[in-house]
Amino acid sequence: MATDYYAVLGVRRDASQDEIKKAFRRLARELHPDVNPDPKTQERFKEINAAYEVLSDPQKKQVYDLGGDPLSASGGGGGAGGFGAGGFGNFSDIMDAFFGNAAQRGPRSRTRRGQDAMIRLEIDLNEAAFGTTKDIQVDTAVVCNTCSGEGAAPGTSAQTCDMCRGRGEVSQVTRSFLGQVMTSRPCPQCQGFGTVVPTPCPECAGDGRIRSRRTLTVKIPAGVDNGTRIQLAGEGEVGPGGGPPGDLYVEIHELPHAVFQRRGDDLHCTVTIPMTAAALGTKCPLETLDGLEEIDIRPGTQSGQSVPLHGRGITHLRGGGRGDLIVHVEVMTPSKLDAEQERLLRELSKLRGEERPLGQFQPGQQGLFSRLKDAFNGR
Ligand SMILES: [Zn+2]
Ligand SMILES: [Zn+2]
Repeated sequence: MATDYYAVLGVRRDASQDEIKKAFRRLARELHPDVNPDPKTQERFKEINAAYEVLSDPQKKQVYDLGGDPLSASGGGGGAGGFGAGGFGNFSDIMDAFFGNAAQRGPRSRTRRGQDAMIRLEIDLNEAAFGTTKDIQVDTAVVCNTCSGEGAAPGTSAQTCDMCRGRGEVSQVTRSFLGQVMTSRPCPQCQGFGTVVPTPCPECAGDGRIRSRRTLTVKIPAGVDNGTRIQLAGEGEVGPGGGPPGDLYVEIHELPHAVFQRRGDDLHCTVTIPMTAAALGTKCPLETLDGLEEIDIRPGTQSGQSVPLHGRGITHLRGGGRGDLIVHVEVMTPSKLDAEQERLLRELSKLRGEERPLGQFQPGQQGLFSRLKDAFNGR
């Protein structure tokens, strides 16, 4: 019998599994190579690993108790030298001892989802009304072809980090008045990845992606408005390590139109007509989104009245159909009259009995004044 495993763990021969586990954890905390790197301690660490491997396994323990050496018999452990490679049964227990459940954290992946990207796209009113298809140039990160996103130069590969043994974090024990305090932090050698890339890909410097300009064809649906965002799934930035790409958002910026003003899906414009035309009625040509149309100005149209053209506005983004085009009429009073025009107007005014008309005040104005009065009187 080479080693007394009970003595190594410092427990009695009739110790329970719980006591064995506790003893192992206490020693592992103290002797872990990350904590205590000197070679003698590492030898001790291997011993307690071997002892725990045997005594925590009921079958191996039985063999050992009967005088055998389960480690050489099984041919596997060989003194349980492999903390990283062999003793994986103990590995989680050691992690447990150090980190509790946090052991499941593990190293972080080199591969992460890429960011979303956004570009602005200018369109005119006509394109917003009826929809369009646009080619856009996007500058985003794409997977590096040289290393297929791995980040390692061709013919090389990432290797397990020797500082953290692939765990991605290193632990440190500090002594305080509370006893030993274990802290862990991302491994400085591998930045928490658990692997290092000895020869980074020359094309992408190990990032696994490169910037590239692409041309995308985007379908703009009818009815988009300023600020509408069109989501193109998977057309954003490829993630580090060749990770899945984010989405690309195309934000619509609608250029102002020379004649029409958009309010929701309705369009508005103003037509100015002479007083005589307003009185007599007329037809006004207007270039709408659907081509040339005649606006019918009824006889006796007042300034501020509007003529709606139903269904000549913007297509509703949802539900189909279209908004209206509303033509606001402004009546122009003639300002420069020659002698003959003035004579005719005076005659007209006389015929209509409008030489000294009484102005008519709008009830809206009166309402405003009475409200102001009420406010002053504190009512
Ligand atoms: Zn590369
Ligand atoms: Zn590391």
